Amino acid sequence: MPDALQVIEPATEAVLDTVPRAGTAEVDEAVARARGAFPAWRALTPSARAEHLRALVVVLEEHHEELALLEARNAGKPIGDARGEIGMAIETFRYYSAAPERLLGETIPVAGGEAFTVREPLGIVGLIVPWNFPLTIAAWKLAPALAAGNTTVLKPAELTPLSAIRFGELALEAGLPEGVVNVVAGPGSTCGKRLVEHPDVAKIAFTGSTEVGRSIAAGAAQTIKRVTLELGGKSANIVFADADLERAAAQAPGAVFGNAGQDCCARSRILVEASVLDRFMALLEEHVSAIRVGDPLDPDTQMGPLISAAQRASVASFLEDGDPVAFRGSAPDGAGYWFAPTILGPVARDARVAREEVFGPIVAVLPFADEADAVALANDSIYGLSGSIWTRDGAKALRVARAVDSGVLSINSNTSVRVATPFGGFKQSGYGRELGPHATDAYSEVKSIYFSTS
Ligand code: NDP
Repeated sequence: MPDALQVIEPATEAVLDTVPRAGTAEVDEAVARARGAFPAWRALTPSARAEHLRALVVVLEEHHEELALLEARNAGKPIGDARGEIGMAIETFRYYSAAPERLLGETIPVAGGEAFTVREPLGIVGLIVPWNFPLTIAAWKLAPALAAGNTTVLKPAELTPLSAIRFGELALEAGLPEGVVNVVAGPGSTCGKRLVEHPDVAKIAFTGSTEVGRSIAAGAAQTIKRVTLELGGKSANIVFADADLERAAAQAPGAVFGNAGQDCCARSRILVEASVLDRFMALLEEHVSAIRVGDPLDPDTQMGPLISAAQRASVASFLEDGDPVAFRGSAPDGAGYWFAPTILGPVARDARVAREEVFGPIVAVLPFADEADAVALANDSIYGLSGSIWTRDGAKALRVARAVDSGVLSINSNTSVRVATPFGGFKQSGYGRELGPHATDAYSEVKSIYFSTS
């Protein structure tokens, strides 16, 4: 029998719910269910699989508010953000509901016959997701995996299992056959590890820390599993002197303090052309001081607590390195894992806060001399996930966008993720791409078939 897993509400530190904690036996059972469901799911016509995904969208829409509330309470995120994130999860299923009928192959000219390619599902895929955007990141993996004809075992983070568990129930309510979506809520060190090692699992799609990603890639190598990894980041927000500084400063806080900074795309390094550093810092401080930190269920709240006491301690450690504190906001006292939005700067290029992922509401501001220096500074990182470029010079913007080693870049914007465009990292931010028209490629194999006409 699984033991109990207490789920904590980060804004109150109280127990929000208690659910069974899965272990390796539950993973094995989930994989067996997924294996049992695979032949029939794979054999469905593309239009029938599409119909299932459309039915799922309808049920998720009916439960949009319920899921948003669950996510807001369990992950400590502002209710407005949670609504938007569940909206994106639903949009992801809607987008990939068209995919089963677009799993196209090629015909290839060869001698003596006809050659063509088809896409085959991988089989059972293991989806390991983090606590920062629990259901949204799960949807990025589930939707293309299901569309391509795979069955799935989803492992949410132990801290935030509630939306995934509810999703599993709603998938059944929507009529998805038993075993197509399985949810195992248990620790990474047992459940996640077993999923990675299980010989019947064909692929692991993972989002989380670079350190765990490394161990997953090594573990998956034993059974030559396919792996996609979406890992950490230290993204640069590059502000040139000729930019609309007001607009850049107004949008910068959202790009690093959104989700209380617990975002792999967080632009946690703001690189500012030295000639406008003082002016930009003043504007930034004005906007950061306006952030409303508090109860996630208050519709006016813009920033909630951190996910856990451990995360808060890890974030707070960055304040002990002696970097200049340009601004420290305020946060509620008392119960809850609160942390005030903080600007450090100008910081040295070798400062820990300039190099390591903080995953909390601390931003480091660094000056640069010119375009070449900005690119060198942006690329001076083991990561390469996201980033922004602010300038009124279009040619410079495109030169810098091509030169920065990141998977996703925005010009005069701080957005990173769109359902219709590929998302993923360079360097130690991972490999593989999620979202966009080609994500189903990562959940299918190409098969070449040759038909002799002689
Ligand atoms: P982890 O990478 O530890 O967790 C991500 C997921 O992997 C969770 O479901 C976790 O399970 C699971 N997991 C942990 N260990 C293993 C393992 N050995 N095998 C298989 N699965 C495993 O992230 P943390 O929660 O510990 O966060 C630590 C840091 O990681 C953050 O401070 C941040 O820097 C980074 N991070 C980056 C994210 C991103 O979006 N790129 C998301 C989350 C974190 P469980 O938690 O249940 O044990």
